[in-house]
Amino acid sequence: MDVRSSLRVREFGTSVFTEMSRLAVVHQAVNLGQGFPDFPGPDFVKEAAVQAIDADLNQYAPSHGLPRLRLAVAEDWGQRYARAIDADSEVTVTSGATEAIFDVMAAFVEPGDDVIVFEPFYDSYPASVRMAGGMFRPVTLRPPDWRFDPEELARAFSPRTKLLLLNTPHNPTGKVFSRDEQTIIAELCREHDTLIVTDEVYDRILFDGVEHVPTATLPGMWDRTLTINSTGKTFSMTGWKVGYVVGPAALQTPLRAVHQFVTFATATPFQEAMASAMELARTNGYYQELRDSYQARRDALAEVLTAVGWEPLPVAGSYFLTVDITMLPFADDVAFCRWLTTEIGVAAIPTSAFYTTAERAPGHARFCFAKRPETIAEARLRLANVPAALRRVNVAAHRRERGQPI
Ligand code: PMP
Ligand code: GLN
Repeated sequence: MDVRSSLRVREFGTSVFTEMSRLAVVHQAVNLGQGFPDFPGPDFVKEAAVQAIDADLNQYAPSHGLPRLRLAVAEDWGQRYARAIDADSEVTVTSGATEAIFDVMAAFVEPGDDVIVFEPFYDSYPASVRMAGGMFRPVTLRPPDWRFDPEELARAFSPRTKLLLLNTPHNPTGKVFSRDEQTIIAELCREHDTLIVTDEVYDRILFDGVEHVPTATLPGMWDRTLTINSTGKTFSMTGWKVGYVVGPAALQTPLRAVHQFVTFATATPFQEAMASAMELARTNGYYQELRDSYQARRDALAEVLTAVGWEPLPVAGSYFLTVDITMLPFADDVAFCRWLTTEIGVAAIPTSAFYTTAERAPGHARFCFAKRPETIAEARLRLANVPAALRRVNVAAHRRERGQPI
């Protein structure tokens, strides 16, 4: 049979995360590629799931989420941002942030509408925009601090602009958008009457006292903003796929209309467990521990990479470090990551996968530090085999040479 896929999906390859994890298995590499923790999830969360299964919470949840979980999310917003959220109409539970991103695009984007996204971007964004028939409008973030040019952003808006999708803390760069930067973005969205969707899945993984500002909390932004989050990152259970979207009822209605026909509902016992997790984490010190442990992991991996001469760029949030590898004699970041995985036994992700075309990518490799100390120690041992000629990337000198800010 001659099977032809729809035009919409014809250009989708296999995700870089699947590809690099597969290569890591084949070569028994330490997997610092795909972003997932390799340490056990917290006991209090696992116990809650066991209890939920024992209590026979095995049937469909209400489509937009268990009331207890929606209430926990609403209370979280009340506590963190002093924002009163109506748990019934202003929170929807989805099967991870990935589903939420797809739902939002299907709910709001008409064929031919523009969606503005900062580049680099998480790889599901262009796919979800395309499946909705929308046009992807990238706006460049420039290393090393990943600033955007407000004029370039302003030029990206047009009467076709439907929504802007913002990710903070940002994957793959680790940038946390400041209040001032978000104010510029928010003003443009208001001026052009554009929706804004924020992907805040790393909102609890922040370093060095940096503050996370949800766009929805900026003056005048609540009515036009949907905030996506994922308990997978916060509670180190990426495989449970419990995400949620917070925002005004008027925006939830179209989102829920899509969600009910994509998954209908998210796994009941895991929703129940995440409700318990959020209730307990409010008082048991978990969030502080999470930040401290990630900061220690970040510093440990940064030290390992710096010892090879691959000094990573600064990161303020998320669980990724990036290294500028353009000083090294590889054709591109893909060639570097393949070599590193197959020859050295450490897998990383080429950040060109987060760009519209490889030519726009700066030549960086992304390393995930959501790993046990033993994993990072094993990476150190293996990286000791990097030949001398492939060490010593002096990023500062390199940037000076290219006339880039240091
Ligand atoms: N957004 C970003 C920025 C991510 O990094 C990820 C996954 N790492 C997701 C969304 C997907 O989240 P989920 O696993 O909840 O679908
Ligand atoms: N978001 C994870 C990352 O950036 C991967 C998730 C996935 O494999 N879909 O590595």
